[in-house]
Amino acid sequence: MRILVVSTPLGALGSGCGGGVELTATTLVAGLLERGHAVTVLAAGGSVLPPACAAATLWTCTGQSQPSAQHQERSAPITMLADGLLPRFWRRVLLEGPAAGFELVLNLAYDWLPFWLTPTAPLPIFHLVSMGSVGDAMDGVIADVARWDQRRLAFHSAVQAADFNLPQPPVVLGNGFDLAAYGFCAEPEPLLGWAGRVAPEKGLEDAAAAAAQLGLPLAVWGLVEDRAYAAAVEASVPAGTLQWRGFLPTDQLQEQLGRCRALLNTPKWNEAYGNVVVEALACGVPVVAYRRGGPGELVQPGLTGLLVEPDDVGGLVAAVAQVGAIDRRACRQWAQANASREVLAERVEAWVLAGLGL
Ligand code: UDP
Repeated sequence: MRILVVSTPLGALGSGCGGGVELTATTLVAGLLERGHAVTVLAAGGSVLPPACAAATLWTCTGQSQPSAQHQERSAPITMLADGLLPRFWRRVLLEGPAAGFELVLNLAYDWLPFWLTPTAPLPIFHLVSMGSVGDAMDGVIADVARWDQRRLAFHSAVQAADFNLPQPPVVLGNGFDLAAYGFCAEPEPLLGWAGRVAPEKGLEDAAAAAAQLGLPLAVWGLVEDRAYAAAVEASVPAGTLQWRGFLPTDQLQEQLGRCRALLNTPKWNEAYGNVVVEALACGVPVVAYRRGGPGELVQPGLTGLLVEPDDVGGLVAAVAQVGAIDRRACRQWAQANASREVLAERVEAWVLAGLGL
């Protein structure tokens, strides 16, 4: 098939502004190419595709970044910037997509406009929904598409899909990773890890508090989206508890992450999936997570990590004390069996073929 993959209007691929969608986009494109599809990627100017996506065509637009949906009030109206990436992306899809011969458009971004366009667009648009419910307008437009033809929608986890008003059982795809890019590390150091955008919905403060109680350093990888929040978390624990490692490319992230005794994953929202959970497992690092959102579905208690009641810092402390009993090889094996790039590409292909009625 000829497929147009539309990336996030939050920022360039490789910048970190798009959160987990960036890695999902590049992994999925590589997986679809591997299965023989012709793929074009529409992304913000300055985007960099990794070598595994070399056979893809890159279309770029420039413009202002879209404000992130999860940082608005639930009742906020939809915002669209006149010179924004979002309207420019979709004008290009509508104007150039049909002539370029795409059989389908695969939207990876959580924006109202492409959902609203879907029933009237001149070519089939499919959406891999990247977050749970964060606002009324998105809930409404996702429910509208679901009522019109739910085959155009897929989700990362069942608990994420449950946020939406869907007439049919959801298509749940999980996610996929280029597991060859993650090295297995058998022997951890006395170090805990936390990875993700540094923003209130990700709950870094709980992981920091647990690390402080355990007297272990917590390495933090990720883009600091909210500086005031990061400073407040830093001030909430003894100096030296947090090791700020910055936003690293995958090869460096995995090399450092693999040395951790455990990854702490402490979301305050209904996390759709939690890429960093699987990235840690791929390195052999057990995950201690709240039983909330995607991580609550991904972590296999006792096998690949431990689940703790949401917001229970004492529970995190107790669970970290038990991670030594987890076999790090079982973590890696779980990722290989359930979340490889190949598995994701096959699932996506089956979803869109069914949605096209093929
Ligand atoms: N990430 C990264 N470098 C870092 C820290 C994080 O590339 O130093 C990436 C990570 O690989 C993951 C993303 O940031 O793909 C975070 O995605 P996740 O699904 O965990 O959360 P989201 O940001 O989408 O809410």
